[in-house]
Amino acid sequence: MERATTDPAQDRTARAGLSAALEAAIAILQTGGHALDAVEAAVRVLEDDTQFNAGRGSVFTAEGRIECDAAIMEGNNRMAGAVAGVRSTRNPIVLARAVMEQSPHVFLAGSGADGFARAFGIEAASPDWFETPERRRQLEELLADPEAPFDLGMKYGTVGAVARDTSGHVAAATSTGGLTGKKWGRVGDSPIIGAGTYADDRAGAISCTGAGEYFIRLSVAHEIAARTRLGVEDMQAATNALIDELSILGGKGGVIFAPAIGTAGWAFNTPGMYRGRADSSGLRQVAIYAGE
Ligand code: ASP
Repeated sequence: MERATTDPAQDRTARAGLSAALEAAIAILQTGGHALDAVEAAVRVLEDDTQFNAGRGSVFTAEGRIECDAAIMEGNNRMAGAVAGVRSTRNPIVLARAVMEQSPHVFLAGSGADGFARAFGIEAASPDWFETPERRRQLEELLADPEAPFDLGMKYGTVGAVARDTSGHVAAATSTGGLTGKKWGRVGDSPIIGAGTYADDRAGAISCTGAGEYFIRLSVAHEIAARTRLGVEDMQAATNALIDELSILGGKGGVIFAPAIGTAGWAFNTPGMYRGRADSSGLRQVAIYAGE
């Protein structure tokens, strides 16, 4: 994801997609709505947009299926909901929220999670809703070179949103198709509370993208929240520190955060990361490449 090699049309449509997600969240937050509703709305927009690796437009597994993971968390009571390996639910983030609010559980997986969605009237979608020719092509390219390292040249396309509302509550939501060519029921960090997603009003909200295995090993999202809550560092410094640690272990990726106090931000060790932020002072920013 570098300016020199990104097709200008892709650059434009990605920015438009990011702006649409921001607008969905702004509409809720500026009328006094909840951070939880804002992050769900933003992620729904991105799940329905085929450009991003979540919901519609997710990457394919090695077997040519689409298996989505998602998580949502709110920072007031630290309620959380997550799903993994979902195959027939249009918006996995909506399902994650239902798990949080309508079940005594935090994490449901596979056909059971889709079954929960049907039982609770959450919109279903058939496999062809999720599939795009570009993702199919990416799988074929990967399968054509089975010797290639698993995540060589991988572009991480997980979507996430974090927000703080006018009551001071924070929330985080993350949704992904995972990694192209994943198999054996592989699940990354995105739906794992504390790894790819975390929210705590005493610190802030965090959502991650990148090589999930590294984010799981470092409990990145919770570690950032813990360091902030304990006053070790502010959230930007804690996020930078975790990305540095990720780099040392060989992991690639990025983090977005909304702190309990201060302005939302991010850090990443890739050449670019789709991102955007807005606040009540009028800040509006959408960016792709490092240094923007
Ligand atoms: N973090 C996701 C995973 O490992 C991938 C991504 O960010 O695109 O499943």
